[in-house]
Amino acid sequence: MSAAAEQPPPPAGVERDFPLARLTTVRTGGAAELFARAGSREQLLALLAWAQGSRVTVSVVGSGSNLLVADEGVRGLVVKLDRELARIEVDGPRILAGGGARLPKVAAAAARAGLAGIEFGVNIPGTLGGAVRMNANAYGGELGAALEWVEIATADGLARMAPGELGLAYRRSNLAAGEIVAGASLLLAAGDVEEVKATLEEMRRRRHEAQPQGIRTFGSTFKNPEDPRAEGRSAGMLLAQAGCNGLAVGGARFAVKHANFIENTGTASTADVLAVMAAGRRRVLERFGVTLEPEVQRLGEVRFPWS
Ligand SMILES: Cc1cc2nc3c(=O)[nH]c(=O)nc-3n(C[C@H](O)[C@H](O)[C@H](O)COP(=O)(O)OP(=O)(O)OC[C@H]3O[C@@H](n4cnc5c(N)ncnc54)[C@H](O)[C@@H]3O)c2cc1C
Repeated sequence: MSAAAEQPPPPAGVERDFPLARLTTVRTGGAAELFARAGSREQLLALLAWAQGSRVTVSVVGSGSNLLVADEGVRGLVVKLDRELARIEVDGPRILAGGGARLPKVAAAAARAGLAGIEFGVNIPGTLGGAVRMNANAYGGELGAALEWVEIATADGLARMAPGELGLAYRRSNLAAGEIVAGASLLLAAGDVEEVKATLEEMRRRRHEAQPQGIRTFGSTFKNPEDPRAEGRSAGMLLAQAGCNGLAVGGARFAVKHANFIENTGTASTADVLAVMAAGRRRVLERFGVTLEPEVQRLGEVRFPWS
């Protein structure tokens, strides 16, 4: 719903027509009608209460590392968490962090404290909130396994949820659009500082070998399929075998080194990305009979061209 001419006026700090592309790792898409950074729980709750009272829809952007923003922009209020809501504290075997804390920083803080269980986060360029929403995982590590509780902010206030209440499954949770992860507690295992740091380093090295570096991408485009016709192959393998590496439309292409990553080679729009996705998905369907489902999340009116 539009924020136009509603009363009362938005809280201080709310900006209009805020470009969102630079808040995403693929750097595509238009502007948010309204945008605000929430640096504290009070600020976040004030924004959510105002939005509810003004019937303005709210969405949240983390590091934008698995996000496609509509070229036409996003109606309503887009919130980004920072300051207090991006803080990381170590408390004995726990890490208490804001939903806006970056996962690689959380992994590094845990390693410095000799805490094991979140090492895989070093390779996930998202926030803790985005990782909860997506149930991020890598190299056998899964966020859900480390979570003790999650603090959810809605227009009604703050509430703690246990991981069992989040409906965590492969790259999904049951968090609804207006439910914002304000913070979380990770309960980790006491380990040896040098060993945890070595694991981190090993994971970094493996990632460096497997994935292209320094490109503008949102990571995995499609989820790995469960369809038996995939015969255990990942989405990336199927795309590669269907000849998608380097396949381009406009400024978007499947990366040469990793076919499940779409790269913005300079001037891509979200429409270009969608066209490349459609082309890759069609090739895999024709070649293997497997229907790939997108992993990437959408902000604004982004329609997949096949749905
Ligand atoms: C190079 C690269 C490698 C990657 N490797 C991995 C990997 O190994 N494993 C993996 O799981 N993912 C990986 N990803 C994908 C991505 O980093 C994760 O999905 C990450 O968890 C997304 O977090 P984000 O903060 O960037 O969320 P965004 O991309 O900003 O948002 C994703 C979704 O989460 C929601 N969201 C964001 N913040 C919050 C919040 N505080 N509360 C509620 N909802 C929120 C958004 O509204 C959106 O629906 C990779 C991405 C890239 C670019």
